[in-house]
Amino acid sequence: MKPVIVVGGGPAGSVAAAFLARHGAPVILFEGEKFPRHHVGESLQPATFQFLDQHFGLGPAFAAPGYARKYGALYVWGESRQPWSVLFDSRLEADLPGLSEETLLAGDYERAWQVDRASFDRILLDHARGCGVDVREGVAVTAVRWDGDRAVGVSAGGHDIDAAYVLDASGQRTLVGRSLGLVEVLEDLRSTSTYAYFDGAGGVHPVLGRHAQLIVTVPEGWVWFIPISPTRTSVGVVVKERARMDLPRFLDVVRTAVPIDQGVLVNPADPLHFVRDWSYALRKTTGPGWTAIGDAAAFVDPILSGGVDFAVRGAVNAAIGVLRVLDGADEAATMGDIATRLHREFRAYLRLARYWYGNNRSTESFFWEAHEELGAESLSTPLRAFVYLTSGRYAADHSFKVFQQWQEEKMFRALGVDKSRLGQALKARKSDEPGR
Ligand SMILES: Cc1cc2nc3c(=O)[nH]c(=O)nc-3n(C[C@H](O)[C@H](O)[C@H](O)COP(=O)(O)OP(=O)(O)OC[C@H]3O[C@@H](n4cnc5c(N)ncnc54)[C@H](O)[C@@H]3O)c2cc1C
Repeated sequence: MKPVIVVGGGPAGSVAAAFLARHGAPVILFEGEKFPRHHVGESLQPATFQFLDQHFGLGPAFAAPGYARKYGALYVWGESRQPWSVLFDSRLEADLPGLSEETLLAGDYERAWQVDRASFDRILLDHARGCGVDVREGVAVTAVRWDGDRAVGVSAGGHDIDAAYVLDASGQRTLVGRSLGLVEVLEDLRSTSTYAYFDGAGGVHPVLGRHAQLIVTVPEGWVWFIPISPTRTSVGVVVKERARMDLPRFLDVVRTAVPIDQGVLVNPADPLHFVRDWSYALRKTTGPGWTAIGDAAAFVDPILSGGVDFAVRGAVNAAIGVLRVLDGADEAATMGDIATRLHREFRAYLRLARYWYGNNRSTESFFWEAHEELGAESLSTPLRAFVYLTSGRYAADHSFKVFQQWQEEKMFRALGVDKSRLGQALKARKSDEPGR
């Protein structure tokens, strides 16, 4: 059987590859770099972890490196300069004033992690290897091979390798998207980020301490402050300009906005990283023999910290689609449905990001916007609707329906029950019910 080929070993590639291999597909994953490698994108969402822990048992692996926990986020944004908080666990809204940091950490409050991506991505890639994926690190895919419009393999390391299916998880390099001219940049969300690391910077809150992220608007744009361990903090400035910020200006901007305190710059001789964060999406994210996932499919401005979440969910759904296709399902319909879900989620994030940049609105208006996005599915308060949407749980509840349905199908099949017979049996039972 030809392998499924995954291009890229970031969260999207590693999770898709692991899922496929765990469910019996032969998989080769090509990663152009040798891990650990540096990556931006450190503040994660709870929905991702619940899945990675429950399905892959990775909870203990994420607890081991000593990442900062993330109970939520503090914002200084909008008309008021008063900080406001968005906490994943609604109990914390009431409990927080009376808690010590110790009691907080000992509690069972819902949370995510703020991670060092070099080690986090390595955990996921090693896990894929452990699931049976043939991981080839330091080998870049130079091209996808085509037979007409069908992807039939890749060229990598000087060899041509045939594939049953190609998953493009090449991140912002968008291997397939660029080679087919499918990338559409969103002109209104073209930013750049300059960031650095500090050791010994402060916390964001007397009780939450370093276990939350802080986002602050400044005249230039906005600043992130993300503790990623007991001592290290990632600090970045996002601006509309296309130019790299120099160190004196960077320090000027961040010193007034976030609690650098006595923190010292890591790697002081060359501390600044620079990335562009233009939002974009492929015009189509799937075609015969291929599907793009994670940043290779679409990327929305990092204001909502949803990139890894989006990558992991899209990866799992695409992997389920590929397993169905390998099992004989109609490829265009199956992968088309997965792509539609991906686009829906992308548009929801995009709408909130645009609203966010609508500037100087009141706090409540963000929450009401979230409430509106959720339509009739109202939660107890607009704030809880906002948390539900921005923590990835809303998308997870919708997106993981693919996963639940697929598990049901597998269960019925293992029990020897044909789905259509089951449907008929349920119908017959209903018509036998009294009063019908
Ligand atoms: C400024 C900024 C801040 C961000 N902040 C956050 C945040 O706080 N939280 C969050 O969740 N997300 C954040 N993100 C987004 C996040 O970084 C990405 O969404 C996430 O890394 C996507 O994962 P991925 O697996 O799709 O891509 P990546 O993590 O980029 O992985 C792609 C991999 O593919 C490899 N590759 C590329 N081309 C090839 C090739 N030809 N052959 C083989 N391998 C190849 C690369 O080496 C790389 O390892 C941020 C992004 C930016 C720009």
